[in-house]
Amino acid sequence: MPKKNDILTLEITDLTSEGAGVGKHDGYVLFVPGTAPGDVIEAHVLKADKSYGYAKISKIIKPSPMRTDVDCSVFGKCGGCLFRHIKYENELEIKKSWVLENFRRIGKFDISDIEIHSAGSPIAYRNKAQFPASKNADGKLVFGFYASHSHRVVPCPKCFIHPYYYEKIKAAAEDFCNTYKLEPYNDETGKGIIRHLYIRDGRLSGETMISLIINADSLPKSKIFVEKMLEACPETKSVSLIINKKRGNEILGDKCVTIYGKDTITDKLCGLDFDISPLSFYQINRDGAELLYGMAAEYAGLGGGETLIDLYCGAGTIGLSMARNAKRLIGVEIIPAAIENAKENARKNGINNAEFICGDAGVAAVNLAEKNIKPDVLIVDPPRKGCGKEVFEATEKMMPERIVMISCNSATGARDAELFAKLGYTLDKLAAVDMFPRTGHVEAVALLRRKKG
Ligand code: SAH
Repeated sequence: MPKKNDILTLEITDLTSEGAGVGKHDGYVLFVPGTAPGDVIEAHVLKADKSYGYAKISKIIKPSPMRTDVDCSVFGKCGGCLFRHIKYENELEIKKSWVLENFRRIGKFDISDIEIHSAGSPIAYRNKAQFPASKNADGKLVFGFYASHSHRVVPCPKCFIHPYYYEKIKAAAEDFCNTYKLEPYNDETGKGIIRHLYIRDGRLSGETMISLIINADSLPKSKIFVEKMLEACPETKSVSLIINKKRGNEILGDKCVTIYGKDTITDKLCGLDFDISPLSFYQINRDGAELLYGMAAEYAGLGGGETLIDLYCGAGTIGLSMARNAKRLIGVEIIPAAIENAKENARKNGINNAEFICGDAGVAAVNLAEKNIKPDVLIVDPPRKGCGKEVFEATEKMMPERIVMISCNSATGARDAELFAKLGYTLDKLAAVDMFPRTGHVEAVALLRRKKG
């Protein structure tokens, strides 16, 4: 077994979703950040536990053919991208294997292969950025990104996965905060006012929304803040303050005050117009969302007469994109602002067969089952921790013919798919969609079909 400070030759064979290369030395597993599958390296062992250890690269003996030149100055420091040193086509292969392996190992499904679909350009695809505030060495407030697994803020002068004009907004917001000596929030002391700068854009509408998340009820000089934002980005259609005075790492609070323009921005998705509030979830890759929703619609196989339940529906986007091909849509979501958006989105798109319930998805689903509502198709698109256990209780009562599962975490997705399988479903289709190029995230979409008889 290797010991701390050993220098070993190691071939990297895998990459974890945390971004560490994996190599085996006489069967002993070592994790090495910054490597790519196919690299042969000289590894310096930093820590060796009983069953696995950690090492760093001391020399690359033979670089992997997957490698490409790193273009970002903070790659490896900021917690955003994992793949900037790996070609995009290889990233797709690696992500596909993550989803496949999770469904095989955790979900215990016997599948030989799946497809992965790319959502398009890996550049500037994000329509949202949330920059935490911090102080730099000169005592100035800066907005950056969290380092991975940390609350240390890494300033990033040019991020490749969100639009370049966000940098201009960021610089103007930093300048404003420093001019008026507004302090960054410090979670240890609970002091400081500026928590995050939050930017979102409607990719087809071109509308931009800017929010400051503050640990206070109001922002000093807020009129000047609005002027500075409009100067930096004339496409700004909404400026708001999100009040979050809670300790802890939740980014958004539950109160949002518009200080300029509209309360929402609009984006077009699947031919519909969607209004989105700062507090509502919206897919961060518009083209990716269209691709994903298209696959979900194909899996749902609607013919016009079906009842559709869309759990974890956000601003109603998935369900509404399918509602015209169904008889009835019921969406459930826990964030009140998102439910308001969903109702308005149904109205403004002339969809009148949709209802939306604000509450916990599992609890609402159990209530619907008790009212004897029997959906033909159930859509679930939960957050990373997966579906609440009541979702399975409700499913057992409702037994929809088809379940379309969308999952941003294929480990919990595979677990949930197995729980559905135990209720009498077979995994009919499974694919991966790369909505988040260069990062460690990938979406999985599955169709579970009720067994006959
Ligand atoms: N389907 C939507 C949103 C998916 S993200 C879309 O494609 O845009 C997951 C959503 O689940 C978020 O909107 C989040 O607010 C919501 N959510 C989280 N926990 C929930 C719960 N317990 N019950 C209902 N909704 C929940």
